[in-house]
Amino acid sequence: MIINSSLDEVKRRESALKYIASQVKEKGRNSLHDLSGLAGGFPVSESDLMLLETYAGPAYFSESLQKEGIVHLGGEKVLAFNRTSAAILATILALVKPGEEVIHYLPQLPSHPSIPRSAKLQGASYREYDSIKDFKPGEETSLVVITGSTMDHQIIPLDDFEKIIKISHQQGVKVLVDDASGARLRTVLYNQPRAMDMGADLVVTSTDKLMNGPRAGLMSGETQLIDQIADKAHQFGLEAQPPVIAGIIRALETFNPQIIIDSIERKDKLHSKLKKLVKGVEKTPTGVMISEDKIWEEVKTPETNLPISKREVATLMAMILLKDHNIVTIPAVGMPGVTATIRLDMASADSNTMEDSQIVNAITDSLQKLRKIIFDEEKCLNILYES
Ligand SMILES: *Cc1c(COP(=O)(O)O)cnc(C)c1O
Repeated sequence: MIINSSLDEVKRRESALKYIASQVKEKGRNSLHDLSGLAGGFPVSESDLMLLETYAGPAYFSESLQKEGIVHLGGEKVLAFNRTSAAILATILALVKPGEEVIHYLPQLPSHPSIPRSAKLQGASYREYDSIKDFKPGEETSLVVITGSTMDHQIIPLDDFEKIIKISHQQGVKVLVDDASGARLRTVLYNQPRAMDMGADLVVTSTDKLMNGPRAGLMSGETQLIDQIADKAHQFGLEAQPPVIAGIIRALETFNPQIIIDSIERKDKLHSKLKKLVKGVEKTPTGVMISEDKIWEEVKTPETNLPISKREVATLMAMILLKDHNIVTIPAVGMPGVTATIRLDMASADSNTMEDSQIVNAITDSLQKLRKIIFDEEKCLNILYES
């Protein structure tokens, strides 16, 4: 075992961030290719910066936030948070009592860790389902969470979405839709309605997913629920501050769904090139991905058991892509518990800083290196944790 705990994952992340910082310092931001799809843009203007220094700013920004947020998500009132995870935590703190239950439906496991962790923190029990057959709220259930699009961009079928909302409401249970990426993927690529228009009570989206905004969470819902959640958010410091709110507003104003639509063509081309190299490379709605299982298939040898796990192999691959090729992917820079699937998102702002051939070469080289080092614990530890 070379990754033993979430503390090790923190160390891995620090090593990745240190490497990134050193590259930015030596060669500039353009030397990096952030294909994570989570680059966290901050498109504020000079005049916004002035407003941040005055009392007028927060007042002005909160008015624009309501307007732009409701255009994007629907609903009656919006609230901005430091993270999507913060919005989920505030909602569970506000709507679920200790001893009650949160149940979560998502198109494919694993779920985002913020949901089970928040339930645990509140002393609530937690169940999760990726099959509609098993989904059943119980006596104790006080919140249903639906993930519209998973971390690996698996999209919920519209039928299931409708059924879950219906079943939950029949039992008088509120529904929060975690639409971190889904608020754009589902609506732009799959022509699904916005979560609020489907009858959800609350929805939260991540303003840096498929959108050039800061990493933050934007929630919408009925006024009364939002006020209840805002109260908890303020008690625990979970709400976004004016500079982040300014970034969210400008990102919403400049949001262009065409960029997501255009990424499909690029993705198809890249996928057919990579397929010759990695059997299990899959398409995502806006890019390609290689799961830990598929990376494992590429590097395992028939005669020996590998001394490391699938997750470790995939994380190593992401760190090699970063440290040898300056390609930023989620398993390298993500928080503990993050998915180990390597996703190359062609809707990323940086996707046009690389040719397909460069990406193909980087994957070829990384796999070759991976095959060489997986039996050498020292080398693996070095790639994961050294800076
Ligand atoms: C990204 C994501 C989150 C968390 O977003 P943060 O901004 O990292 O807190 C939660 N749920 C899903 C489905 C996500 O994809």
